[in-house]
Amino acid sequence: MGMITNYSYVVASILFILGLKMLGSAETARKGNMLSAAGMLIAVVFTLLDQGIVSYFWVFVGLLIGAGVGYYFAKTVEMTGMPELVALFNGFGGIASLLVGWAAVYEPNANTFLMSTVFLTVLVGGITFSGSLVAWGKLNGKIDGKPMVFDLQRAVNIAVLVAIAVCGLFFLNTDGGTSIWLLALILLALALGVLAVIPIGGADMPVVISLLNSYSGVAACAAGFAIGNNALIVAGSLVGASGIILTQIMCKAMNRSLSNVLFSGFGEVKQQKAIEGEVKPVSAEDAYYILEASDSVVIVPGYGMAVAQAQHAVKELTELMEENGTEVSFAIHPVAGRMPGHMNVLLAEADVPYDQLVEMDEINPRMETVDTVIVIGANDVVNPSATNDEDSPIYGMPVIEVTKATTVIVLKRSMASGFSGVDNPLFFEENARMLFGDAKESVGQLVREFV
Ligand code: NDP
Repeated sequence: MGMITNYSYVVASILFILGLKMLGSAETARKGNMLSAAGMLIAVVFTLLDQGIVSYFWVFVGLLIGAGVGYYFAKTVEMTGMPELVALFNGFGGIASLLVGWAAVYEPNANTFLMSTVFLTVLVGGITFSGSLVAWGKLNGKIDGKPMVFDLQRAVNIAVLVAIAVCGLFFLNTDGGTSIWLLALILLALALGVLAVIPIGGADMPVVISLLNSYSGVAACAAGFAIGNNALIVAGSLVGASGIILTQIMCKAMNRSLSNVLFSGFGEVKQQKAIEGEVKPVSAEDAYYILEASDSVVIVPGYGMAVAQAQHAVKELTELMEENGTEVSFAIHPVAGRMPGHMNVLLAEADVPYDQLVEMDEINPRMETVDTVIVIGANDVVNPSATNDEDSPIYGMPVIEVTKATTVIVLKRSMASGFSGVDNPLFFEENARMLFGDAKESVGQLVREFV
């Protein structure tokens, strides 16, 4: 690898790191993304110039198709479909590394080190690819979101792991090229990815996707070692490390350990407590009277606000309530919506000031002093059974304790459950009122009552 290329990799790596750092805050995130993308462009261009490529024709064909498909999806994806897109990105990252690893077995000097790195690349890349496809399917409902368990699942998993170890040993003893052991390894890795993700429930998919993101980094890093490419090693380890940190943060937000997320599907499904109480629908007019008389209002947004694209109307309602002398803040649950930071992004889009957003840990202790909570299209993140029903599948997940406020107005279209499929006793609580309808329309009605 030429000296200039290696220098370009140092520049690219610096841009990756600066970009990652800037992603840490909403104000600089966009610029950070651009910096990292510029780093990647530099790395790609210098790599292509360095390799003594005979004909650039197929490189450009690939580049054009890839860029076209990427551009189309990035432009058309709905914010709510973002995790699915990320799942696919991770999966393609995994398969790309797998293919690079596969190609590396044709190196003339295929020694044990190279073969070990190929083994790792193929294994992790394969798991990432098939696991991500299953996660993608579970997120968009093409595959049942419920944990899929079957008899002898553990035994099958162990058998696959043993088979991988055995094939791996034989593979390391080949002299390169596409051996039967390599093909077997690829198939086994793909099978393991599927087996690892099917027993995990749909509600845990964000954590799984974040973990698979980390795996895609590890696979890229291993591929970097296999072909001796420093940029790939650096970029792969950055993705691997940041993915695992995000996974850790998300597990903490759900008060779960990673092993609990990954393996809890193996336990038996528990029966939830029957919900008692009466549902009390409210009209927009009556909801307005409650809000008009409130000194403090906390808004809890969730996935439904994103679906309804109600954020601009919500901002308008906020301003009207403030003009009326009400103190308004937003309580943000770390896993509200369908991706980390989903609510923050939507509210920023509607120009809601950052200091109006309050985190769950901060709002819960003072919830009792709040007059009215408006829950807008949130469900799981305000489900009290997570704190008071030990048999609930979501027991232990910290939630925003809205029932402690004097009144709770819930905006949603029906009595349907949220992402986890768990019923919500909140809707039957004494102090809860249901304002049924599309969130944007309901908020619009409230706005019209105010003006
Ligand atoms: P939920 O998915 O629990 O609930 C959303 C609610 O919004 C539904 O019950 C639905 O009820 C309502 N809704 C849907 N469309 C509309 C609409 N147009 N107008 C009004 N209401 C609407 O959302 P939460 O945000 O409370 O919880 C997030 C869940 O998603 C958690 O289980 C989390 O683990 C999971 N998750 C989180 C990710 C993340 O990274 N943040 C990623 C993937 C999953 P109805 O149909 O009756 O209107």
